[in-house]
Amino acid sequence: MPYTPYHFGPSGFLGLVFRKYIDLPVFLFANIVVDIEVLCWQHGSVHRAVHTLLTGAIAGIIWGLVAYPLRNIFAKLMQIIHLSYKTSLLKMIVSGVLGIWLHVIIDAPYNWDVRLFWPSRTIPLYGLISKSNMQIVCIAFWVATIVVYIVMAANYRKEKTSRKTTD
Ligand SMILES: [Zn+2]
Repeated sequence: MPYTPYHFGPSGFLGLVFRKYIDLPVFLFANIVVDIEVLCWQHGSVHRAVHTLLTGAIAGIIWGLVAYPLRNIFAKLMQIIHLSYKTSLLKMIVSGVLGIWLHVIIDAPYNWDVRLFWPSRTIPLYGLISKSNMQIVCIAFWVATIVVYIVMAANYRKEKTSRKTTD
């Protein structure tokens, strides 16, 4: 079973809380971008090229560049879910890199094949936390994300209506 949805918990929480500096859609979708390789390798070691800090950063930069022309679509999406959205090319690139880094750091403790510090083969994070415990952490972040989102979306609506009445 793909583990990707769990990642949306921590990513969603950090992306929302640091929304001023992070492009939320780029940061969130980075989890899908990085896990494409897991879907490509069905057997043996599934975490290869992109599940490292170094190549992950390169993938993140590319993802930020690819996402830049999509910024109007992201703005529309954010409007639909009642979140304000302001971005720039730099913000998108930084969010792409940070999004992939957060993803691989979460994957590293319970996947022996995540070579976080590639080209070094050391896996210092491996075994720090079990897969089931990491799932619990991710679910807790999911809950926190929903709470933060409800507050932010409510503020967005409040600001909109107050702007309308003052106009
Ligand atoms: Zn992964």
